[in-house]
Amino acid sequence: MDYEGFFQSEIDTIRDEGRYRIFAELERHRGRFPHATRYTEEGTDEVTVWCSNDYLGMGQHSDVLNAMHETLDQCGAGAGGTRNISGTNHHHVVLEAELADLHGKEAALLFTSGYVSNWAALGTLAAKLPNCVVLSDAGNHASMIEGIRHSRAECLKFKHNDPADLDRLLAGIAPGRPKLVAFESVYSMDGDIAPIAEILDVCEKHGAMSYIDEVHAVGLYGPRGGGIAEREGLMDRITVIEGTLGKAIGVMGGYIAASSALCDFVRSFASGFIFTTALPPALAAGATASLRHLKTSQMERARHQDRVAKVRRRLDLMGITHLDNPSHIIPVMVGDPHKCKRISDWLMDNHGIYVQPINYPTVPKGTERLRITPSPVHTDGDIDKLIHALSDIWSQCELARRAVAA
Ligand code: PMP
Repeated sequence: MDYEGFFQSEIDTIRDEGRYRIFAELERHRGRFPHATRYTEEGTDEVTVWCSNDYLGMGQHSDVLNAMHETLDQCGAGAGGTRNISGTNHHHVVLEAELADLHGKEAALLFTSGYVSNWAALGTLAAKLPNCVVLSDAGNHASMIEGIRHSRAECLKFKHNDPADLDRLLAGIAPGRPKLVAFESVYSMDGDIAPIAEILDVCEKHGAMSYIDEVHAVGLYGPRGGGIAEREGLMDRITVIEGTLGKAIGVMGGYIAASSALCDFVRSFASGFIFTTALPPALAAGATASLRHLKTSQMERARHQDRVAKVRRRLDLMGITHLDNPSHIIPVMVGDPHKCKRISDWLMDNHGIYVQPINYPTVPKGTERLRITPSPVHTDGDIDKLIHALSDIWSQCELARRAVAA
């Protein structure tokens, strides 16, 4: 086989479809987020980042950076091993206690990313519970889908955010069989929010375990940043809460929070936990500092919501179509991969505005979009610049506008 030719032809296909990914090579600077330096072949330029998942700018927060510096000096660079073989540092244990407390659970278990936590925890639970059936929301993230696939357990997909469909599917499963319902709170690309209470009602009715991914909600919602389940007073009804330390917390890593027995079980059987090097202690200390700050400070969450509302209002005034969801994620709908890329390139090249185009397979074909994520540190001036530039390119691309209310 012509291996190289095969690789190139596959790449050419996605390039022709307008969905070949090109990295924006950024250098973030302490104290300057959301502004960053971009490196190109021609040199460097300054950009404003509008698509970061460091939703609250905690990746630049002094508490986080100081904790990381101190721990780096104290403990060195790496963890030095897997959690079981010399890699468990005091900072991991402290962080797990902090996470368990955040979610009102007995225990928590760290992984090297949110992706790995979903893959390993869901995969292990579904594989090891005898004859388990997994019920997976149709909109679930790739990490959950891959974990379920890897388990080889039977999987039934329920309609997105549809407790009635979940109820119908659960009713068809033998009552004694273990059932695991996997869903998210805030969906990353549409920004819609699950009807968690209704889904839990259905889970409880059928004796199913519930597994929620709060990756896009931890730090951002709830009085202590425990996510949508905390905001809605539902944490104690959920079997497993999964989250990331790489988005609103601003660092890196993933985790589950659940009962002691469940965490111990996953810890003891999940290959994605056992056979990989533990997170560097400095990352763990940084995440702990970030969580502690966000448990008491409301300022970042309040300012974040204010910025999101402002961007939405300004888009509405310009008639620029965006999904009207109740979260902080603003998907500006373009519906064509080539136009989406053209808009993104034009914003970057002409205005130093960085919004990555989101294409298939991340979203369905025909729903290509710009996913805008405001942060507390975007100023009114940043917002003005974004809206005017978007409006300009919207006209150039002859994209439809929503009627604007007088
Ligand atoms: N779950 C969801 C819903 C996500 O969107 C993501 C990342 N985009 C992950 C899990 C994985 O998290 P991490 O980036 O920490 O690997």
